Amino acid sequence: MKYPKKLRTYCPVCRKHTEHVVERAKKRGRSAGHPDSQSQRRFERKLAGYGSFPRPNPKGRAKPTTKIDLRFKCTVCGKKHTSGKGFRVKKFEFVGD
Ligand SMILES: [Zn+2]
Repeated sequence: MKYPKKLRTYCPVCRKHTEHVVERAKKRGRSAGHPDSQSQRRFERKLAGYGSFPRPNPKGRAKPTTKIDLRFKCTVCGKKHTSGKGFRVKKFEFVGD
């Protein structure tokens, strides 16, 4: 899918259509996967010592598409807002200037 880098869309802060710069959201670390979290410590404890991997390996769940999470930055007020839940596409690229 091709997507413009700049577009005119509704800004909830300005409460009108303004020019927006589109960018993909950066990946953030999951809190559940953080080594400080209780479940992660329990899981690491289980991995230590003897025995195989403590749960069946997930298989056949590979998704052919990736989820695209976009952020729209208003050029008038400088605030960013999202496009809701995002969407799934195989390929994503920005077009235009
Ligand atoms: Zn705005």
